[in-house]
Amino acid sequence: MNPTPDVTTRPIRRAVVTGGAGFLGSHLCTELRRREVEVVCLDNFLTGSAANIEHLVGDPGFRLVQCDVTDYVHVPGDVDLVLHFASPASPIDYLKLPIHTLKVGSIGTHHALGLAKDKGARFVLASTSEVYGDPQVHPQPESYWGHVNPVGPRGVYDEAKRFAEALTVAYRAEHGVDTGIVRIFNTFGPRMRPFDGRAIPTFIRQALAGEPLTVAGDGEQTRSVCYVSDLVRGILALAGSGHSGPMNIGNPHELSVLQIARDVIAATGSSSAVEFVDRPVDDPKVRRPDTALATEVLGWAPEVPWSEGLGRTVEWFRQSAAARPVSAAPGLG
Ligand code: NAD
Repeated sequence: MNPTPDVTTRPIRRAVVTGGAGFLGSHLCTELRRREVEVVCLDNFLTGSAANIEHLVGDPGFRLVQCDVTDYVHVPGDVDLVLHFASPASPIDYLKLPIHTLKVGSIGTHHALGLAKDKGARFVLASTSEVYGDPQVHPQPESYWGHVNPVGPRGVYDEAKRFAEALTVAYRAEHGVDTGIVRIFNTFGPRMRPFDGRAIPTFIRQALAGEPLTVAGDGEQTRSVCYVSDLVRGILALAGSGHSGPMNIGNPHELSVLQIARDVIAATGSSSAVEFVDRPVDDPKVRRPDTALATEVLGWAPEVPWSEGLGRTVEWFRQSAAARPVSAAPGLG
């Protein structure tokens, strides 16, 4: 199969965002509306929430459809862009929802691609740096095939996304759908859930509560974290470019997990200590995107420094904790 060459996409007037009530999806919906693109948000609120999009409800250019994309996807009218973001994304979520994670990556992606084919729309798949697994090449360029354990606990997420990528490429080759694949690296910012298990919201929640920050292992494993507005800008640039990807979008600034914990303590002014706990199985030791392709094709580079993004995120956590006190882990069933 020879992939269809990149094409220039038509102007984006109306977009469908699956998973639009989630962390990233809601920021995408907000930015699309800011750019006066009409938005249809499809979400079943499995890990997302109405609070993430409440500022858009009542906007005539925004429509929310509560549905499960693994069932059936139907959107009346023209659609120029489908952003497929529906999927559990944090390890806590996909470990609790292993079968759903595989279904939304396979059947859900199939349905979202079918919608794009039907409408002649551009399609962008939210893939992940997890397709690289625990990488043996560092930093990770798009040409690296990865080091994934298919039967480990993270396999449900990693393999779902790898399948979703293969299906996206197949739709491009067989049906000529204008597809793009973005491999998203760890992203942080407002609207992350305090109990989603990812390092930054966990540390901020613990620091604000004066609890110890639980650092896995010795904390020397690294993460590269991108502020959400940089990521959204990169994704929408890819959406408008007609490039097929896969394309890494993330911040190459690499930090150890221990450094992240110390920075959170400083940013919150907390007196919390660090407590070392066991590392999860197959937890990647290093993670850093090679973003040369995004820079070359889109002229994209992250702009928000870590300290600034962290400050904005801490502020949001302070305000949302004051507005909606959080006393327990989320009920995922
Ligand atoms: P999130 O959990 O906040 O959002 C996912 C959204 O999808 C939620 O609103 C959820 O309710 C919805 N959803 C799940 N299953 C669905 C279904 N069957 N039908 C309809 N809606 C469904 O996660 P996120 O961090 O915003 O991640 C969004 C996407 O980006 C995911 O595909 C994820 O794999 C990808 N991604 C995120 C990151 C990151 O750092 N946040 C990194 C890599 C990839």
